[in-house]
Amino acid sequence: MNTVHKNNVLLHPNSQGNNLNNWLNSYGGSGLEKALDAPEQIIELLKGAGLRGLGGSGFPAWKKWQFVAEQAANPDKYLICNGNEDEPGTFKDAYLLAHSPNQVIEGALISAVANGTNRIVFYINPEQKKSLESIRNAVEQWQNSELFQRVADYLGRPLSFRVMASSGHYIGGEETAAIESVEGKFPFPRGKPPYPAVSGVHGCPTLINNVETLSNIPHILRNGVQWFKDLGKGESSGTKIYCLSGDVFYPGVYELPMGIPLSELIFTHGGGMLLEKKLKAVFTGGASSTILTPKDLDVPLDFDSVRERGSSLGTGAMIVVSEGTGIVKRVTEYVNFYAHSSCGQCPPCKTGTFYISQLLNRIDTGQASNNDLDTLINLCKILPGSGRCHLLDGAINIVDSSLSHFVDEYKSSLKY
Ligand code: SF4
Repeated sequence: MNTVHKNNVLLHPNSQGNNLNNWLNSYGGSGLEKALDAPEQIIELLKGAGLRGLGGSGFPAWKKWQFVAEQAANPDKYLICNGNEDEPGTFKDAYLLAHSPNQVIEGALISAVANGTNRIVFYINPEQKKSLESIRNAVEQWQNSELFQRVADYLGRPLSFRVMASSGHYIGGEETAAIESVEGKFPFPRGKPPYPAVSGVHGCPTLINNVETLSNIPHILRNGVQWFKDLGKGESSGTKIYCLSGDVFYPGVYELPMGIPLSELIFTHGGGMLLEKKLKAVFTGGASSTILTPKDLDVPLDFDSVRERGSSLGTGAMIVVSEGTGIVKRVTEYVNFYAHSSCGQCPPCKTGTFYISQLLNRIDTGQASNNDLDTLINLCKILPGSGRCHLLDGAINIVDSSLSHFVDEYKSSLKY
């Protein structure tokens, strides 16, 4: 695994390790000190910095914080630090938690000061054993620290940390499913409203932030808004951690300026295509977004620019596929994953993902007819929007976009 710390922020070598003293002796803790000195300025700073949710949504982080800050504690407020991370090709949060958990914990305590979120839950994928061990170790040190006590005194209410292994289900990363999990139930996504900011864990206002989002916050408070904006490119502030995988020379975790072109990620940092093959496609955002193709190599990697190409930056996962790789096979693998991951609450999702998976497997193994392909195309038209959460639409996205770019591959796989 390669790791690039081009901007020396989240993956900064000096911030690595879970030793709290090392963190405080380098530069850690000063963001939280600033928060305690001027709590009323924190959300305005995040607004000015332009920090967006880095778990996939791209929703402005300050708005979520504001919604929760406006709610009365009832009797508590919760923060769920979402490290469920189970999408294909996504591994950045696991890396951050394993190697540099202190910035995530400090970000969570800044949230407590800004929003009153006194019950802090680190919700981690159980397969990520190093991440769990690392954050457990760091949390233990923070709980005995003077800074932790100062935050508790400021809140005037019990302040607690809990590190919990999620159920490991992909769907458990969805916000409301995470709330169900924290309450000890199976992670079925809930209908909205009510939104988590109003009624989340045990009916209390709940903020759900991704690991990477929280890890940015101490740095913004310590170094200021302009510093954060200058790290990015153009209108896109800060850095993004990209998970680069697939047919590139140097797959790995890359922290780079938000807004760099896709070509720079693949050909400069990723070392280019394996065996010097041509690029065929890129699955973005954990393989649930519209596929990018070579004509998109110039797209700046930021939420808005990628959305303008009809896709989504999502988690920052980029799975690179070279010429010679069968797209139908890849899409079949991903849809099998989504069909397996459907929680089954919504009949169109439960039966739809299962049926699409069956059709794709038939096409991929050369057993399908033209009618099967027509059925697949029709399902892509009628199913979107009929699930409670994004899983069904994500599965349809990759099938639909692979059909629009590579329909000839589908046709050539048909038996009759
Ligand atoms: Fe569950 Fe699928 Fe409905 Fe999401 S869309 S709640 S995964 S059945």
